[in-house]
Amino acid sequence: MKILNLDANFRDLFDHTSDLIHFLDMEGRILDVNPAWAATMGVRPGEAIGRDIYEFIDRQSHDRYKKYRSQIVTGEGIRDAEFEFIGADGHPIIVEGQIGCFYEAGEAVYTRGVFRNVTSKRLAEIALGKNQKRLSAFLNSAPSAVIIIDEHQTVLEWNPKAETIFGFPAEEVLNHPLADIIIPLQFREAHARGMAHFLRTGEGPVLNKTIEVSALHKDGYEFPISLSISSVNIEGKWLFIAFISDITEYKQLQEEIILNQAALMQSRVLDDKKDQFLSMASHELKTPLTSLKAYIQMMERSVSAGSPLPPQFLGKASEYIKKLENLISDLLDVSKIRADKMAYNIQRFRFDQFLVETLESLQYTTATHHIVLEQNAHAICAGDKARIEQVIQNLISNAIKFSPEAAKVSVGSQLKNNEIEVFVRDQGIGVGAAQLDHLFERFYRVDDNEMKFPGLGIGLFISREIIERHHGKLWVESEPGKGSTFYFSLPAAGSSNSEFPN
Ligand code: ADP
Repeated sequence: MKILNLDANFRDLFDHTSDLIHFLDMEGRILDVNPAWAATMGVRPGEAIGRDIYEFIDRQSHDRYKKYRSQIVTGEGIRDAEFEFIGADGHPIIVEGQIGCFYEAGEAVYTRGVFRNVTSKRLAEIALGKNQKRLSAFLNSAPSAVIIIDEHQTVLEWNPKAETIFGFPAEEVLNHPLADIIIPLQFREAHARGMAHFLRTGEGPVLNKTIEVSALHKDGYEFPISLSISSVNIEGKWLFIAFISDITEYKQLQEEIILNQAALMQSRVLDDKKDQFLSMASHELKTPLTSLKAYIQMMERSVSAGSPLPPQFLGKASEYIKKLENLISDLLDVSKIRADKMAYNIQRFRFDQFLVETLESLQYTTATHHIVLEQNAHAICAGDKARIEQVIQNLISNAIKFSPEAAKVSVGSQLKNNEIEVFVRDQGIGVGAAQLDHLFERFYRVDDNEMKFPGLGIGLFISREIIERHHGKLWVESEPGKGSTFYFSLPAAGSSNSEFPN
């Protein structure tokens, strides 16, 4: 089968062109291939001769190739076509070119194919097509909002998650300036400044890190987002890609955790206070009990010795019993307040008279201090006398307790804007500003005093509850080292001059 007779010059061209050339007989068997063809297909030139060309063409291209070749043979014109060949190692080789037919005496003798290898070009194009598909698959399914803007802040990309998070459908925002859409009014200027700075200097402090800011929803409300922005330069123009997540729930959770932690700490502090309270309470109850026991033993000894009872023993014993009674009833009061079970027996009474009597009886309880009534309001009070007496007693006993160096406690009442305002003033140790607000809390005692002064930290808590239940107020003014003045107010129910004439 010596159909081909290439002279030297054509042989030179045949051997050295980068195009792929093959000659086929009319049955499709290879008559010859040039070195470029053989190298591309991964065979030696001689190896291909005599083989069926379809061994080197992808199955899916067989029919098209056959049809194309027969069209060429019947003279239907020569035009470029593209086929997928298969290399010896099975790899696809995409070729583009033409087939021509050689005739002798009107008979088709062979066909020649001249093709270019366009595999890399086509694969790159296919890959690009696939990349675009991959990119849109990524944008469509991304769990974050992905927004791409250009240097003018024009929105170029707005994925479905951005639609969900911000409430704007893509068609409403694409090609619009981003700042007008999702940046809250108060941040727009800073955003524009940051952008201008970046374009001028290439520096962007918020780029390539995750920050938390607030954004605007289509419905007008602001909500927290986490945002990370990257910049890319494509052909001299900057693009900014923002990845955004709505962190509203995360923030709420964070707040809840902080609140829970605060509550936990508070309850721990309260637990500590309770423990302290228990040891203080045991100590406070034990002290008068020990003294009481001592006096009773002394009285027993006197009785068994047949000697008369020293008169002050009974007085002392009942003083300690009173102290115990007061402590126990304070403790019971705290429980009643907690259970909202404190009962009040409201009656109208002359306040000035009541104050004089109360101070007289309190004066008996102290040998160290003189209780001085400086002024007294002629007013009627509607309230629980015993409970208000309890408040005054508590304030005066504190005034005495916390002014060991002083000898006087001043008390007074006056009528002010239809309220009876009472003060109890001492010249004692005073209280620092930081502690003042806490004095009325349950179990609170100023730390420095705890060791030096007895007490349970519940007297002021009970007193404030009693006064507030009377629709009044209890407050304090104090200066460390100078003394304290406790005030309380009660609504006046009229003037004592008219209702209770002297
Ligand atoms: P207690 O006196 O039993 O400790 P209170 O509730 O009456 O409890 O008082 C709470 C705390 O307030 C006291 O422990 C003390 O630190 C402070 N305090 C109360 N009254 C005075 C006062 N007149 N001068 C200085 N500190 C006071």
